Amino acid sequence: MRSYADTHCDTVVKLYCDGQRLRKNAKQIDLERLSVYGTGIQVFALWLQPWYYEKAFARTMQYLRFYQAELAANQDKICPAFTYADIEKNKQNNKISAILSLEGGEAIESDLERISFFYEQGVRMLSLTWNHGNALADGVLAPQKGGLTPLGKRAVQNMEKMGMILDVSHLSDAGFYEVAHLMQKPFIASHSNARAICDHPRNLTDAQLQIMREIGGYVGLNFYPPFVAQKESVGTEDLLRQLLYLLDKAGEDAVGFGTDFDGIDKMPYDMRGVEDMTIFLERLEKELGPTLLQKVCEENFLRVTKKIWKDT
Ligand SMILES: [Zn+2]
Repeated sequence: MRSYADTHCDTVVKLYCDGQRLRKNAKQIDLERLSVYGTGIQVFALWLQPWYYEKAFARTMQYLRFYQAELAANQDKICPAFTYADIEKNKQNNKISAILSLEGGEAIESDLERISFFYEQGVRMLSLTWNHGNALADGVLAPQKGGLTPLGKRAVQNMEKMGMILDVSHLSDAGFYEVAHLMQKPFIASHSNARAICDHPRNLTDAQLQIMREIGGYVGLNFYPPFVAQKESVGTEDLLRQLLYLLDKAGEDAVGFGTDFDGIDKMPYDMRGVEDMTIFLERLEKELGPTLLQKVCEENFLRVTKKIWKDT
């Protein structure tokens, strides 16, 4: 089966909290099911439940050490990627590439040095916020709907210098535009859809998708039904409608997948988990043709990593 990049899943935190393992589990992603797709790319987010914000750094480190231990235990199937060359090497060695991200800047506890620390620990993508406001910026549900704080602006500049991907999924609209103004390099929305199709603050407006097109950014299609369509029953046909709209507005070079698997309590009615990506991929093959499908599956995200990450 065709390999693909998925720029967001919450599998690590889900497994840690439920005492399950990465190789085989009853959640939406495990390595046995993921490896059917060959040498794909899976971004694993470390998301912090709000009740851990008081000890955000320590709790995030527990998730990070669990992630590292799970990768170490499964080297026959998956290897970390810190550079573009690592992804190429992993493909040659017939391995899935694992990329580590932080979902929400709470983990740094207002200390910008910790962004460098997490980079050294292998983190290559970070979103300033989850849904709430924090020391760096306001998330989409923060009542004051503010943008970036002075500390958040410095964090963005530091990330750009160190070659860490900035993820604006969950960031407020005001924050989005400030990031667009501050950054020279592209940024991404790892798991967000189009608001014109499904009016939810977690989704991007047409104007934001246009900016993604102009900066050479990337938008990962989110599979969570309430972000896909405003109706009772959401299936892969609705995912397709979102994807086609994103391709139209952000462009064929700026769209991929950001499934949100293991972060979502509901799936499209005709999918159970990663094992059913095949249903969607087969549908896309017919709809998009092989060249565009290859862009959506991997090339668009690879282009962004090449542009943003350091070579070594
Ligand atoms: Zn999320």
